Amino acid sequence: MTTWIGTSWKMNKTLAEARAFVDGLVAARDALGGVRAFVIPPHTAIAAVRERLPSDVPVLVGAQNAHWEPAGAYTGEVSMGMVADAGATLVEIGHSERREYFGETDDTVARKVAAAAAAGLTPLLCVGEPAEVRAAGGEIDWIAGQVSRGLSRLAAHDLRKVVVAYEPVWAIGDLGREASPHEIAPVMEMLSTRFGPGGDARHKISAVLYGGSVNRFNAAALLDVPGTDGLFVGRAAWDVAGFVELVRIGARAGHGRQPDAG
Ligand code: PEP
Repeated sequence: MTTWIGTSWKMNKTLAEARAFVDGLVAARDALGGVRAFVIPPHTAIAAVRERLPSDVPVLVGAQNAHWEPAGAYTGEVSMGMVADAGATLVEIGHSERREYFGETDDTVARKVAAAAAAGLTPLLCVGEPAEVRAAGGEIDWIAGQVSRGLSRLAAHDLRKVVVAYEPVWAIGDLGREASPHEIAPVMEMLSTRFGPGGDARHKISAVLYGGSVNRFNAAALLDVPGTDGLFVGRAAWDVAGFVELVRIGARAGHGRQPDAG
């Protein structure tokens, strides 16, 4: 199976910086074919990134959020159709920062997942337990619940469009601590067998990624965790050289995987 390697820039990068990143991707185009790469700029740069990427450089462009309604009086919001029109094919939904700072709930997440799929976009559903849940040993139930609720409004035939990113809240960002492969393995296995490509149920999501303080030193070991189809990276991939290095690590890991189904 092709390994996914992606990054969200969060609230970073001007248009000039976004274009310079794309130029770095183009310079490293030979590396990119070995993985399923994606970049998620802020909304202001989606179109610029899409337009600057030559069509033969295989990098998907995403959006960090979009509203579930197709149009209307929602000042400050953009719709799924609008981010698709700007060039996004993927939408990040339910990142822990949106849940914590912007009132995102399992209900709004579920609406967005369904709206993204209906608009022909890949919903990238982010889930993760806080430190206190992990300390109490409740992570499996927490994550299974977040994923079930996030998928609850989706038509069964749209499940295969979904990618889930497991990102423990305690492992994300400057204050995060790196998770060990051992710590994430039970959750990745549960996600893969219960919801993802590792199980045997009829309707399955397409991939399960891991994210949270991923870097070039821990990436290979995290990709080795069974059930892990790729990595979703923040800080270590904001510099294009860092992103390309992670792509190369992902491509090497992909060589040992099962071929893509279908
Ligand atoms: C994230 O916030 O989704 C993330 C993975 O960030 P970082 O890699 O910087 O911890």
